[in-house]
Amino acid sequence: MTRLPRRLFHLYKNRRFHLRGTCPVCGRYSAFICKDPQSLRGDLFCFFCRSSSRNRHIAKILAQSILPGAKSIKEAVKDSGVRIYNTNACGSIHRALADSGYYLCSEYLPEIPFGTIDERGIWSEDLQNLSFGSDNFDYIITEDVLEHVRDYRKAFTEIKRVLKSGGKHVFTLPLNICKNTARRVDISRGNDIHVLPPVYHEDPLNDEGALVYTDFGRDMLDELEGMKMPTQIRFSEYEDKFSGIFNSMVLISTKQ
Ligand SMILES: [Zn+2]
Repeated sequence: MTRLPRRLFHLYKNRRFHLRGTCPVCGRYSAFICKDPQSLRGDLFCFFCRSSSRNRHIAKILAQSILPGAKSIKEAVKDSGVRIYNTNACGSIHRALADSGYYLCSEYLPEIPFGTIDERGIWSEDLQNLSFGSDNFDYIITEDVLEHVRDYRKAFTEIKRVLKSGGKHVFTLPLNICKNTARRVDISRGNDIHVLPPVYHEDPLNDEGALVYTDFGRDMLDELEGMKMPTQIRFSEYEDKFSGIFNSMVLISTKQ
């Protein structure tokens, strides 16, 4: 089966999973198309902006935090003056915010010196040692990034440092609240020593995938509380099907 017939086949086969509603990323009334019913969190793609369920959950929470009642992040951010730093320089949220005046984005690009900006306007940044000044941003977005950072504690410390007082870190990561946090890799020496079998997640910038350093558990929330970054968990609700959000969890830490 070639590409178009395969797409049409999936469109038909998954028809009972498709949703319709207003997209909190692009703000348009849209269809949310299911490609894989087994992973709806990263699926249900907006017909217009290609946002996934996870993207829309982040966008909805961000929009409501900036401007309660806003239909989308585009509407919320416009004229708000909020400074947003996104640790992702691709995807639907990036595209929706890219033209905002106070928006910065970065990627982990070790081939480019950290703290420099490339011709596309993307910063090369290491979350464990950010080049930005302290008390700089109102919001920082990390989407399924922190499990891939070698030393997640350094990353949380840096995120707190560059947030303004009262600023928020809006993020997703795989979190198992029935377990405690486990490091999959021993980083106490210079080199990485795998203490659990290596696991890689899909990475648009790397064909080999991104190594998972940490399996986060419930004690991560206590750690953040101890850092004066109290954190709330927002689960998607039944009503959120009208924003095409399903089986999603977003965390929000606030700098005290
Ligand atoms: Zn959309």
